[in-house]
Amino acid sequence: MAWTFGLLLLLWSTLARAAVPLDVLGGGPVGRHASLLLEQASVMSVEEALAAQREGRFVAADAAVPKFGIGAAPVWLHLALENRNAVVQARQLFFGAPWTDRLDVFILREGRVVLQVAAGDGERGLQAPVGSVGYRIEHDFSPGVTEILVRAASADPLVLPLRLLEPAEARQMLRAHDYGYGLLYGYLLALLVYNLMLFLGLRDRSQLDYVLYVGSFALLSIAYSGHGQIWLWPEQPVVQRYVILAMMVLFSCMGLRFASSFLGLASSLPGLYRLARALVFGGSSAMALCVVFELQAAAGVLAFVFTLAFAVAMAWIGVVSVRHDRIAAPYFLAGALIAMAGTATTTLAVWQGLPYSPWALHAAEIGIAVDGTVLTLALAYRMRRLRGERLRAEYLASTDPLTGLRNRRAFAVEAAQAWQTALTRGSPLSVIVLDLDHFKVLNDRFGHAAGDAALVAVARTLEQGCRAADLIARWGGEEFVVLLPDTELGQARASGLRLLEAIRTAEVVHEGRHLPLSASVGVAERAEHPDLEALIRDADRWMYEAKQAGRGCVCCDGGAKPAQA
Ligand code: GH3
Ligand code: MG
Ligand code: MG
Repeated sequence: MAWTFGLLLLLWSTLARAAVPLDVLGGGPVGRHASLLLEQASVMSVEEALAAQREGRFVAADAAVPKFGIGAAPVWLHLALENRNAVVQARQLFFGAPWTDRLDVFILREGRVVLQVAAGDGERGLQAPVGSVGYRIEHDFSPGVTEILVRAASADPLVLPLRLLEPAEARQMLRAHDYGYGLLYGYLLALLVYNLMLFLGLRDRSQLDYVLYVGSFALLSIAYSGHGQIWLWPEQPVVQRYVILAMMVLFSCMGLRFASSFLGLASSLPGLYRLARALVFGGSSAMALCVVFELQAAAGVLAFVFTLAFAVAMAWIGVVSVRHDRIAAPYFLAGALIAMAGTATTTLAVWQGLPYSPWALHAAEIGIAVDGTVLTLALAYRMRRLRGERLRAEYLASTDPLTGLRNRRAFAVEAAQAWQTALTRGSPLSVIVLDLDHFKVLNDRFGHAAGDAALVAVARTLEQGCRAADLIARWGGEEFVVLLPDTELGQARASGLRLLEAIRTAEVVHEGRHLPLSASVGVAERAEHPDLEALIRDADRWMYEAKQAGRGCVCCDGGAKPAQA
């Protein structure tokens, strides 16, 4: 008996020497003070784990936050803490990986379990996380040594981010997390609502794809922060088991879809478009298979590999699009690089490759919030560019390139409106058709370039000689048409004469040579014409009359002789 007691005392004193003073622990991760044991084939009880610890089978942890990757065996963590004060000290133990399937925490005094908590998201009835900080165990540490044994098991990445905080520190941390996530969710929501409104108003596919991309990230963030388990699907371990992994793949697919429609890959870069489609199809169907066949570890590897591939693919699509000068591609690339840095940091910190830290854990959220902002700007910029291109195309489609006057098509549209107005108001409306005389001869004598210069000069002369309300157009080669609203035949004929006079007296000089110009003019008025086409036909007929009458004159209805300018 005395012998056993002596041994216990010896063990106890060794343990006490190894124990970390509670006061000097600070609020940081405690991994470096802990020792670890990977559970072998069979599940260990707390007694077996404690015995293994006493036998020295636990090894010192080599990181502040030990990590074991996806599909690892369950891990036991041992930590001895010493309260050197004479009074009880309250502490809160936080385990910051809300996605962990099952977490068993044992608090021991003198080798006996005094508190036992089962938490996690893998089974029903386990303690749920608080806020987004993970699982919390509150305990009052009596003076002396207290041991903590933690068993963590997860098919998802197994990480042991353990911290021990004073109640005031814990409150502060919870508040910081709540504010942080309030800001993130609020901001993402604002981006989503804004772009959804734009989509509803403008029906631009990219805007919808943007909403799906950023929206799926918001859901992913809700899932892995633990908020989903708290707010949306409590006590649904099956949902929780796959939702994070499935959302990772979904988010990546939505990002690729957005890239395709935003950059117009299908028509401009079909190779990249096929790559994006293959990734979307491959990733989503592989994840569907994992869920159907309940392959959680495979789903984990798939989700993490796919997310990394997605981040690289987005940056690659951005680089190629910039090289091919796609609209707003530099914005896309900048956003993609920031998002890639964030997503890759978080993925590698949780999984393998980068040290785990709170900033690394939230890097993806920061990255996507910035990416979402840049992409909203990019969508607005792209809209402006497309509108500019459309206006330019409309201008080109409605303008005669040589003279800058309306072409026939634009004239038809505007003249139809003027006709309708005149019809409803019962106001007069006239048309002048003007054809240059012997223009072929002018071309032959002075050259085609001179002919062009003459046509431009005539266009300017017509513009100067007409009112703002008149519609001037180049009807064909060297033939022009002017529509004069609120103008009776007599006034129109006078206008025709004035224009003819202006053309004849215009000082048109090309390469030092004066170009003599003359025209034949036909005029007609709306009255008694059933439609605009008939009116123009009539004016054209009168123009031919003017040609017949010897050119350089104005002809119209009214029986009068051709009027010479
Ligand atoms: P008329 O007095 O009977 O109208 O004789 P015309 O020579 O003016 O008429 P015609 O229709 O026989 O010839 C029109 C000429 O206008 C022929 C064509 O080369 C010239 N032309 C048409 N469009 C252009 C153009 O854009 N630039 C130049 N330089 N010439 C043009
Ligand atoms: Mg002519
Ligand atoms: Mg002609």
